[in-house]
Amino acid sequence: MFDATLAGSLPKPFWLAETNKLWPQWKSEGRDLEIAKRDATLLWLKAQEDAGLDIVSDGEQSRQHFVHGFLEFVDGIDRVNKVEMGIRNNRYAAMVPQVVGKLAMKGRAHAAEARLARAHTKKKLKFTLPGPMTIVDTVADRHYGDRAKAAMAFAGLLNQEARALEADGVDVIQFDEPAFNAFTEEAASWGIDCLHRAIDGLACTTCVHICYGYGIKQNIDWKKSLGQEWRQYQAFFPALAKSRIHQVSLECTHSRVPPDLMALLGGKDVLVGVIDVASDQVETPEEVAATIGAALEFVPKERLYPCTNCGLAPMDREIAMRKLEALGAGARLARQKYA
Ligand code: ZN
Repeated sequence: MFDATLAGSLPKPFWLAETNKLWPQWKSEGRDLEIAKRDATLLWLKAQEDAGLDIVSDGEQSRQHFVHGFLEFVDGIDRVNKVEMGIRNNRYAAMVPQVVGKLAMKGRAHAAEARLARAHTKKKLKFTLPGPMTIVDTVADRHYGDRAKAAMAFAGLLNQEARALEADGVDVIQFDEPAFNAFTEEAASWGIDCLHRAIDGLACTTCVHICYGYGIKQNIDWKKSLGQEWRQYQAFFPALAKSRIHQVSLECTHSRVPPDLMALLGGKDVLVGVIDVASDQVETPEEVAATIGAALEFVPKERLYPCTNCGLAPMDREIAMRKLEALGAGARLARQKYA
């Protein structure tokens, strides 16, 4: 009960990449870089286990960015000639690569880090991939001419990688879809269809993570504009409840999401965000347990997984470490209180 897990990413150590950045430059190249990625992955696996997490991840130590780290392995994309585009429904401008031809995988994207993590932990292993809608919202399409069509093409590639990750021994495959909160109608109309394509044929547990973004300034400003109640989830949770995805990871603590929206996910495992990624204030185990207790009003205890609101990638490493410890300790406390 209350198996603790994290949304996915963790900060990169200073010897691997620039710190406190969402899209950091690597500190080395070639074989040195491969070794540094491996060492960072092992370090974070150990830290997650020590913190008492039950489902661990590679911390995304081998990719520069949660979307672009996957796109590096996709043919049909011009990553040299980037163009400026408003992303997440124009929340902010970013320099993005262009889709210029038919999409295809160049080969495996994440075999090395998935197999490494699998070989070094007996815990359940989660692996994250960007969701199809979020990918199309992070590239400029010059080929498909239709967002849903391009997303479905990406979903086919994600499925290829997901099946291979399952064969590598991954227990949970999670798709990150922050774009669902920016395009709520499209999420219900074609976003979930694309997720179904991405999980086609998988026997492992599948999850979708939908948040209000990393704790960066553009997202914090956007959240301020959303009013007293954030009701984005309401538009597509009923459709997700009917979907074949097993788990939904959502933002909860310190957010203005009305907690009763979690009740719309009947029949799904709910990964409840009990750790705030937009604040350096470390939660106490008591606070974490209290958030779990509040969520229990709307989520049955056997379906509640304490989690982080989003990834921890741009945070200070020491603070992220203490937040993981708070998550593990809070879950243990909740087990005593609510068992
Ligand atoms: Zn997130």
